[in-house]
Amino acid sequence: MPAPDRSPAPEQVAARLLELAVVRSRASTVELAALSALLDLVVADPLRSAVGLDELAERVVELYWAQVQPLADGRALPQAGGTSRQPALVEEVAALASAGRLAGTRTARATGAAHPARWSAAVRRVALLLAQSALPHLQSPGPDLLFESGWLHRRTTQAELDERGRALELLPGTPRQLALAAPLLRPALQSEWAAVVADAAGASPTGLGRLLFGLPPSAQQLREALLEAQDGRCLLCGGRARDAVVDTVVPWRRLPLDAAANLLVADARCSRERAGALLALPLVFRWSRRPAPALEEPDDSERVRRAMVGAYRSAPAGSPLWRARGSWEVAGGQEGERIAALFGA
Ligand SMILES: [Zn+2]
Repeated sequence: MPAPDRSPAPEQVAARLLELAVVRSRASTVELAALSALLDLVVADPLRSAVGLDELAERVVELYWAQVQPLADGRALPQAGGTSRQPALVEEVAALASAGRLAGTRTARATGAAHPARWSAAVRRVALLLAQSALPHLQSPGPDLLFESGWLHRRTTQAELDERGRALELLPGTPRQLALAAPLLRPALQSEWAAVVADAAGASPTGLGRLLFGLPPSAQQLREALLEAQDGRCLLCGGRARDAVVDTVVPWRRLPLDAAANLLVADARCSRERAGALLALPLVFRWSRRPAPALEEPDDSERVRRAMVGAYRSAPAGSPLWRARGSWEVAGGQEGERIAALFGA
C-alpha cells in the first residue's frame, strides 16, 4: 500500500507563508519580495526541484525595478516600515536602475545585457542579502515548508553559497503546491506590500497598487511597435485593433513578466473582458506566429515561451481560458504539455 500523502494542501501552504511574510513585512518589504520571486519561479516552472539563488535574486531585482524609479520629487518609494532606512537590498537595485536610466535601457534584464559585469556583481550581492535574512525568515518559526533552510544564517558568506552550488533544494511537492496556490497568494502579498509602502510614504494604498505592481508605463509606450508587428490587428480577436491597449500573453496577474516578447496589443474591449485570464490554445498559436516586434531590447522570447509552458502547467484543470468575446473554454489540464510540444520544449 502506498504511504499516505502527508504534505499539506496548497491553501495550507499559502496560509502559513502569507502569515509569516506579513509578520516580517512590518520591518520591510524584502520578505514579501523574496516570497513573490519564489512564487514567480515556480509558476514559470512547476516541475523544478531547485531554485538558484542568483535566479531568485534576478527576479527580486525585477520586482523592485519599477518601484525604485524616482518619483516627481526625485525620491523613491520607501520600502521599510517606521523610521527605518531603505533596506540595503533595495539600495542595490536602485543603483542598478540608475545605471539603466543612464544607459537608456528599459527593463532590468536589458540593463543586465548592457552592463553584464556590473549586473552579475549586483545579483550576487542581492543573493547574499536574501540568504542572510529574507530566506531564513520565510519559514521561521516552524518546520521547513519550501526548502531546507538550516544552513542559512545571518552571517552566511558567498563562499558558503558557492559551496552549496548557490541553490535551494526544494522539498518534494513544494513547487506544484506553491504554483497551485499562486492565484490566492499573489494578490494577498501585493496588498500587504502596498500597505507597507503606503504606510511608510504616508500615502493611501488605493492607487498605489497599480503603480507598484501594474504593467509599467515604459511597456505601454511600446504600443505602436507592437501594433506594427501585429499588422494593426488585435491579438485576441484578430480584428482591426480599436483603442488598442498593451496586454501580455502570459497573464500579468499569474506571472508579471515585463519582457518584450510577452507584450501584445489588443482592443481595449477584448483586453478588459479577458481580464488577465489564460488564453485558449488557438490564441497562443496565433501569438507564436506573430513576427517579433522591432524593439531595441534583448531577445527574450525563449524565456517567455518557458514561462508560458509553466503558467499553463500551473493552472489546475477547470481554469477558464478566454477564447473570444463572450466565449470561454475550460482547461483540461493538458494545455501545458501541448504548448511545450509546440515550442519543442
Ligand atoms: Zn479584439
